[in-house]
Amino acid sequence: GYVPTENIFAYLFQDQQVWRRFPAQDDKVVFHEPLTSQDLLYGRVRDDSLRFAHSLSKLVVNVPPKDDFGVPGAIVGPVVMIHLPNCCAFPVIFLGGVAANCTMNLVSPALGPNELVHVMELVHPDVVFTQPGELGEETLEKAFNLLPESRTKPKVFTVDVLQYPTDSSLPPSSVSDWLSLLGMSSFQVAPMDADEHANRVACIMWSSGTTGKSKGVMHSHRSLTAVTVLWEKYGSWVGIDSIWIALPPFYHIMGLTTVMLQGLRFGTKMVIMRKFDLEAYLRLIVEHHVTYLCVVPPLALALTKTPFLDEPWCDLSSVRSIGCGAAALGEDVIRELRRKTGAAVYMGYGLTETGPCTNFPESSWNAIEQYPGYSGQIFPEVQVQIQDEAGRPLPPGQAGEILLRSNLQMLGYVRNPKANAETFTNDGFVRTGDIGILDDERFIKIIDRIKDVIKYNGFQVSPVELDAVIGALPSVLDVGTTSIYSEQQASELPIAYVVPRSAELLAAVKRDKKNHPGLRAFAEEIYSTVESRCAYYKWLRGGIVLCDSVTKSPTGKIMRRQLKDITGIYIPFK
Ligand code: AMP
Repeated sequence: GYVPTENIFAYLFQDQQVWRRFPAQDDKVVFHEPLTSQDLLYGRVRDDSLRFAHSLSKLVVNVPPKDDFGVPGAIVGPVVMIHLPNCCAFPVIFLGGVAANCTMNLVSPALGPNELVHVMELVHPDVVFTQPGELGEETLEKAFNLLPESRTKPKVFTVDVLQYPTDSSLPPSSVSDWLSLLGMSSFQVAPMDADEHANRVACIMWSSGTTGKSKGVMHSHRSLTAVTVLWEKYGSWVGIDSIWIALPPFYHIMGLTTVMLQGLRFGTKMVIMRKFDLEAYLRLIVEHHVTYLCVVPPLALALTKTPFLDEPWCDLSSVRSIGCGAAALGEDVIRELRRKTGAAVYMGYGLTETGPCTNFPESSWNAIEQYPGYSGQIFPEVQVQIQDEAGRPLPPGQAGEILLRSNLQMLGYVRNPKANAETFTNDGFVRTGDIGILDDERFIKIIDRIKDVIKYNGFQVSPVELDAVIGALPSVLDVGTTSIYSEQQASELPIAYVVPRSAELLAAVKRDKKNHPGLRAFAEEIYSTVESRCAYYKWLRGGIVLCDSVTKSPTGKIMRRQLKDITGIYIPFK
């Protein structure tokens, strides 16, 4: 009952009552593009989204109705794919799209052509918004060429990520420029009943779940509204003068919900950053008096180590709090970060599938000492269970798999009944694949991961997918991918254990002939294959171990945890 039954657009811009702590003001700057010094105002985001919704709804008027994408009850609208990095146009396209009841498919611009084909073959987008160049149009074109001939190609619009029109009458440079959809007429957002609210798919995000290839995670208007309501209720770091850096990508659950949607609900100024550079990041904090940082572990670590903090210009006193999520971060780093910045530091926990679901309550966020190693307190509105391997519930204090159930969670995966059956329990809990301990106050400690997922810099890497890409090489006899943890980078790094097919190389590996000239070339072939076929965060930064066999269970399953015990010839990543 705590979630108002409204289109997420209406909740953000039209609902003034529920939990809103601050009045929204039309002339408040909500997005700032530092490279062009452009500001986008709250009122402009709302009005442009509605104008965009008007043209978009006309464009998709003849799209035939969709089926339920394999999740009974799900209502899928025309599929609009956003293939963009963070930019001022992103929220307008996203919010205009959801206002017009489209289903927004959010994908990373780092994906390669094959990865895009996998996504497009699952959701068949009707319209795509992309940027010019290699991280946009060009890769998309390569992906289109790999699609079956019979497939209808979506209508493609390009977005200049640097330039948001300063004045609403700016003419588009071509008909496929997204600005051609920024017409003059406004749009009436249709009301929703409770059933539609719970089942209409607002967006699809991509996660490999517990194993295998990337899967389309469908979130309803209700789950996005619920996340936003809860952040508004418990987000103790937000104030009327909040200023953030929008570095977490908007296509990921963390960037979409904890930054973009939450920031809009509060009228927070969000300074856009697409490409990470530590000095530029620090300079933005100083210049804009940023109050809150939303970071991933490697960035948290970098902040503790950087010598810039000793320079006079680098005054981070405006930063009052730092929230870190997406992967584990050592306690020492958290303490050091607190010491160096003076900010309150806390960890959050969540999944693409469940939404972000923890928070440190206001009274405790300065007391990280009180909750060492914990990733926050599960929201009261989220049900949590810790289970042993047999599925029996465990009491507080005992470690087991974390299961979560709430309004924040996904409807299910796109066209994947097997993964849906494995992920949801009969009573609707989501199995997270994480091992944790809950205390009496519902603070949660994440201690391990049992699923087949590697997290590099907060991004998911599927070892199963890497096995498939590497295993497809004729020169490879067998392969098993896992991760090693780098303290130096505060991140897991993908590492592959590979058995060469060539008898000569295999003999060299067995005899530990490290200097055999063919070994480096063989490893190079693997490195370059992964780099040409996979997004940059999946590259084998942990290295390659050439070995004579990969540890398997009696049923032939790769024993990923045991891979680390294999000895072989190590060829590091360059
Ligand atoms: P994603 O769907 O990309 O957000 O990834 C979700 C996964 O990231 C979780 O299932 C965890 O394995 C990991 N994760 C997220 N937050 C934390 C945290 N605070 N500590 C440890 N692992 C985390």
